[in-house]
Amino acid sequence: MRAGAVPVRLPCVTAAIAPSWPASRNEFWSWQIRGACRATGPALFYSPEGERGARKRRRESAAKAICATCDVAEVCAAYALAWREPYGTWGGLSEADREARYPGLDPVQASIDYREALAAWHRRAERAADPVAARSSA
Ligand code: SF4
Repeated sequence: MRAGAVPVRLPCVTAAIAPSWPASRNEFWSWQIRGACRATGPALFYSPEGERGARKRRRESAAKAICATCDVAEVCAAYALAWREPYGTWGGLSEADREARYPGLDPVQASIDYREALAAWHRRAERAADPVAARSSA
């Protein structure tokens, strides 16, 4: 789920895939057009002011249920971990879920993981002749 954040690339990424890829904002965000949350809107994915307790858990569970049906959940979760999205549920991970993973997470590896997940989604989309993949890599 996009929150309007402008991604900042991490420096010194070394990987089997080219660190300059994705080369454009279109490529970077291409997967979001296939997000299941596009049909629901963002309200379920972000906490309203002051939300806590059982109400917060219920909303997050409902958001995670949508993520569980989403074709781009893997790349979405990888993005949120790599760019340390502070808010919202992304790829089935709540804010607390991501916070719990950060201590053991190498930021360079997380960036590589995101790029690899994005590349894998692009390959799947191209095989499926998804016009989004064709447009974003043009
Ligand atoms: S995994 Fe969840 S938050 Fe990410 S695009 Fe899909 S539905 Fe939206």
